[in-house]
Amino acid sequence: MLISHDIGAIASISSRIAVFYAGKIVEMGPSEQVLREPAMPYTKALLNALPDPSKTRLEAIKGYPPDFTTLGTECAFRPRCPYAIEACSKEPGLISVGAVHQAACWRAQEILDRVAEPVG
Ligand code: SF4
Repeated sequence: MLISHDIGAIASISSRIAVFYAGKIVEMGPSEQVLREPAMPYTKALLNALPDPSKTRLEAIKGYPPDFTTLGTECAFRPRCPYAIEACSKEPGLISVGAVHQAACWRAQEILDRVAEPVG
């Protein structure tokens, strides 16, 4: 097992990946699949924030990581999530979005199906 913030390194040497946010796994599956088609908005934002020579600016993830002392029962990514809806007031568990791909997001399947519109 390798724990790293270096997504490039992870992509090149791992077969499976687990993405953590606020101390919990929020997406998990085959590395190639998760990195090519993320189903959880945090994973998407993380990948969008990677340096890209074709872009003139880095895309930061809006907001700040949560305060672990005040985590409630909502999805921990909700304050930063452009896809948040009312259902996100309840924390999702890992939901299967494929045979071996899971994401902790109420809208994961919509995101994978590319029908989820950002709302914020
Ligand atoms: S459950 Fe809601 S707030 Fe959490 S990542 Fe998914 S859309 Fe965003």
